[in-house]
Amino acid sequence: MNFQKQAQLVKEEVTEAVRKSVNPARECQIIAVTKYVDADVTRQLVEETGFHHLGENRVPQFLAKKDKLSDLPITWHFIGSLQRRKVKDVINHVDYFHALDSVSLAREIQKRAEKPIACFLQVNLSREESKHGFFIENIDSALEEIAAFDKIRLVGLMTMAPAEAEPSEIDKLFNQTRILQQELAERKIPGMPFTELSMGMSSDYQLAAIQGATFVRIGSLLFE
Ligand SMILES: *Cc1c(COP(=O)(O)O)cnc(C)c1O
Repeated sequence: MNFQKQAQLVKEEVTEAVRKSVNPARECQIIAVTKYVDADVTRQLVEETGFHHLGENRVPQFLAKKDKLSDLPITWHFIGSLQRRKVKDVINHVDYFHALDSVSLAREIQKRAEKPIACFLQVNLSREESKHGFFIENIDSALEEIAAFDKIRLVGLMTMAPAEAEPSEIDKLFNQTRILQQELAERKIPGMPFTELSMGMSSDYQLAAIQGATFVRIGSLLFE
């Protein structure tokens, strides 16, 4: 596979979207979601494109890949929903965890983490039944409980747009998510800086970057 063309396209689109965005001075990191490919292909991607933020969503594949690529300077993002019983296997190996979607999961991370873990609170503002993430009305009480957990550092919000939604709907959702993120950041709760915004995938990352994403998570577009 030759990744340079797709990678270059994504980089240019992100740069352009950030320039047009609400906050053109910020950085927007591209997380290459490598869940579709094995360790050798992942190595090739990193070497050819310079991408060094990588996203994985399955525990065994992530751990095996991290082990095989330990010579590369990779920042590892665990982006998939995580079952409580698997927390102990994975949580001390991730740099960022994007799918904190329940208080019980937070409690398990608190129990198993050896140091504070940078986590994104996953929110479900579109209220899709099939999706993970907190509904808006449950966020405040969740934050009250999580505030007691010194192993959880809430660096930002993560969201996923409904698969079938119109661009205007997705745009509105990303906008609402940024407004919520800013509101939470302004609260200045200790251990909860909420400076980051993880949103946008292959089909909607330009919209997300225009709406202020600081991390976009891109998989299939790189592997076409
Ligand atoms: C797979 C995945 C992505 C990447 O999706 P693509 O459409 O392949 O770009 C992003 N975020 C999460 C949580 C994923 O599971």
